[in-house]
Amino acid sequence: MARTFNVVTYGCQMNAHDSERIAGLLEAAGYRAAPDPDAADVVVFNTCAVRENADNRLYGNLGHLRPAKLARPGMQIAVGGCLAQKDRGEIIERAPWVDVVFGTHNIGSLPALLERARHNEQAQAEILESLEVFPSTLPARRESAYSGWVSISVGCNNTCTFCIVPSLRGREKDRRPGDVLAEVRALAAEGVLEVTLLGQNVNSYGVEFGDRYAFGKLLRACGGIEGLERVRFTSPHPKDFTDDVIDAMAQTPNVCHQLHMPLQSGSDAVLRAMRRSYRRERYLGILEKVRAAMPDAAVTTDIIVGFPGETEADFEQTLDLVRAARFAGAFTFQYSKRPGTPASTMDGQVPKEVVQQRYDRLVALLEEVTLEQNQRLVGQRVEVLVAVGEGRKDASTGRLSGRARDGRLVHFTGADRPGIRPGDIVETVVTYAAPHHLTADGSPLSHRRTRAGDAHEAGHTPRTPGVFLGMPAVK
Ligand code: SF4
Repeated sequence: MARTFNVVTYGCQMNAHDSERIAGLLEAAGYRAAPDPDAADVVVFNTCAVRENADNRLYGNLGHLRPAKLARPGMQIAVGGCLAQKDRGEIIERAPWVDVVFGTHNIGSLPALLERARHNEQAQAEILESLEVFPSTLPARRESAYSGWVSISVGCNNTCTFCIVPSLRGREKDRRPGDVLAEVRALAAEGVLEVTLLGQNVNSYGVEFGDRYAFGKLLRACGGIEGLERVRFTSPHPKDFTDDVIDAMAQTPNVCHQLHMPLQSGSDAVLRAMRRSYRRERYLGILEKVRAAMPDAAVTTDIIVGFPGETEADFEQTLDLVRAARFAGAFTFQYSKRPGTPASTMDGQVPKEVVQQRYDRLVALLEEVTLEQNQRLVGQRVEVLVAVGEGRKDASTGRLSGRARDGRLVHFTGADRPGIRPGDIVETVVTYAAPHHLTADGSPLSHRRTRAGDAHEAGHTPRTPGVFLGMPAVK
């Protein structure tokens, strides 16, 4: 009987995509996804190290698994991702029932490490300082039949003072455009309608191989891929954002007019202390150009409140920029100390109650701004890629949900159009706006069944074969 596995993912899109590679690797090594995750023979935690409570959550979950492991000695537990890259062997010291610890640079080693731990009956920790193979060369078991992640680079050359990513994911390494486009074509050939190009900083893509404008060219090249209806990307960086990217977005029909551009703070003094290498004027300037080229563009962002040294006046600058930027949405964070980052030892750590109070004010303002933005869409037609897991109340309301081309979440009634499946495309008219979503209560104007919808209905998700199917040579 093939051994079964379950992958538990924490953190960002890069981790979500790495988990697809981990699942693809284990399938290629003869394992199969566990029908019942709680009964899996192998449990893999793909961890995140960005937030303060990331550690507590992992060790908490490992603690929960200990009794199951004691009851089933053949069961194996593996820990990978950013927290594994940071804590290394310490994970086995703190949780000796863990069998394998692997890092962000050697995902491909997992099957061999599991076998070695089982054969030697001894826990294995293997962490590399630099990339073993590009994760995108590994096989992937995709989560979705209609939407796919495609990495264009790993690592980051920036040194934002609050961020631990560069020390855990290394310096930026870019994939060749041909490799990226081959993977996008392979997904589109399987019926995938939407791809999201992934990188810690997509705007510096190509610098490593000497082409400063490679990212804009990549977006344009995606325009020529048959069957590919939607192209998105994350994360851009305001300091490297160039006009050719705005032109490529505006002039390439399948590139969505959606931009998630982290701001972090609206205060130049705080941006300087964060070492973000841009100022509020440049940020607003980019938005102005984006909106001139794409008036319908939806812009979302990330904002950190309570960075060390942030004064009330600095915070007011952030609120002021939020009003000026007219964001369609934002991920908001209370500053969280990360040991090993420069900011964690900075003077002027802001008291928790002040951070909380500012956070609440920011969230309240964002609710106002995003509601006002969404209300402008009431009465407008929107094209929705129907998705699973986007509508918490769908079951109780009989609604379906999905994303509009600009990334907005849309809940719509489809009751009178039976047969609408995730992966299909519907056109409908917005009847109501809320701060975080749109609703379309009328009957959809059209419903297009797609290959992705067929695949989803058949329970099939794409398998992208890696070019690295053998077991890595164990060093
Ligand atoms: S750009 Fe800054 S915040 Fe983003 S991953 Fe790089 S160092 Fe971290």
